[in-house]
Amino acid sequence: MQGLHLTADLYQCTGDLSIFVDENALAALCRQQTELSGLTIVGDKWVTFPEYQGEPGGVTGAVLLAESHLAIHTWPERGGVTLDVYVCNFSDDNSGKAQQLLDGIIAAFNPTQIQRNQLIRGDQDAPSEPELLWENLNPNSVYGFRFTRRLLSKQTAFQQLELLESADLGKTLRLDGCLMTAEKEEFFYHEGLIHPAAMAHPNPRHALILGGGDGGALEELLKHKSIESATLVDIDGDVIAVSKEHLLSINKGALDSPRANVVVGDGAQFVKETEQKFDLVFLDLTDPETPAGPLYTPAFFQDCKKVLAEGGAMVIHLGAPFYEPEQITRLSSELNSVFKHVNAYGLHIPLYGAYWAMAVVSDHLQPAQLGVEQVQQRLVEREIDDLQYYNSAVHGALFALPNYYQKLLPR
Ligand code: SAM
Repeated sequence: MQGLHLTADLYQCTGDLSIFVDENALAALCRQQTELSGLTIVGDKWVTFPEYQGEPGGVTGAVLLAESHLAIHTWPERGGVTLDVYVCNFSDDNSGKAQQLLDGIIAAFNPTQIQRNQLIRGDQDAPSEPELLWENLNPNSVYGFRFTRRLLSKQTAFQQLELLESADLGKTLRLDGCLMTAEKEEFFYHEGLIHPAAMAHPNPRHALILGGGDGGALEELLKHKSIESATLVDIDGDVIAVSKEHLLSINKGALDSPRANVVVGDGAQFVKETEQKFDLVFLDLTDPETPAGPLYTPAFFQDCKKVLAEGGAMVIHLGAPFYEPEQITRLSSELNSVFKHVNAYGLHIPLYGAYWAMAVVSDHLQPAQLGVEQVQQRLVEREIDDLQYYNSAVHGALFALPNYYQKLLPR
């Protein structure tokens, strides 16, 4: 039986005293948060302890859930609380609901310090019902994959992080319910994002990746021998830590390379404050409707332009032209208001369920003008011979756009 067990020990809480000492107040809070989380209450029991040596007694209680239980104990004299939530994930994945319940109760106690732990229970190697997970392409269309194992489920400071495993994809990273990268198909996206611009630049030495905490784009970039420093700025340190531990087959340890400078922070702020210049800037971010939203605006594109060295270029992914035509048109015309050349291209990305648009934007660089021989020569000079998607013939093909996509772009 697979399940997720979450515990939290709260110290020096500054929440309302009533929830420490009054079983009715605590019961009301726990019932309300359980209902908000979408878990199902089947019973509950509460006991208030008597006063002891002039100090009020605490409360112990449990909520029985159809999915398992919530148990809580308060220590008013110390401002402390112990909390545990267990959900089984037999017929449904209740992990997100359990996280929400725990977070709601923690917020009410307002602790100064928290110690959290989680245990994924059950035999992870035992065959289990595959989980069929869907992802939206737009409000009308969805696609999905079957995952046979759930390796990790964790609420970070910024997003819900999951590691899943499927036969076709291998280990797969999902953030806030959106598929990010997967062991067996990451080469489509990461090679597609990095090499068209990096190969077109005659001598890229300093590069910046915003987002990309999985390290896959960084690994591709470091294949270019001329790169002396690659700075990666991801807002979520947990994505970086989990990727270093579990996604080595994607990043091959690039996050620890001596040429890599890994920063945990907001990409928009980094670009505003840095005095460095970069030959190439890659936006390897979550989609516009996520914490990365402010990084898909003309003001931010302008800030990126300021950090580009002479002859430099920025690379961005734009979405799926068939499913998100308005987004492609909006982003490409905003980019065109800042950069002289918007070199749009595209490729099919299995994990994103669609043909996907990207663009190299620059006042100078025009990668589509690089011929097959020139790409081949640079691949040889740079000793890059371990690619699974990109090659000298594919380079030009990436920039050959179908008519429906061309029509979405600025003339
Ligand atoms: N290839 C992926 C995709 O398009 O689905 C992107 C993968 S990468 C893991 C996306 C990263 O962007 C995440 O690790 C997330 O933490 C990071 N991110 C989101 N907003 C950010 C911001 N404002 N600054 C820096 N990184 C950010």
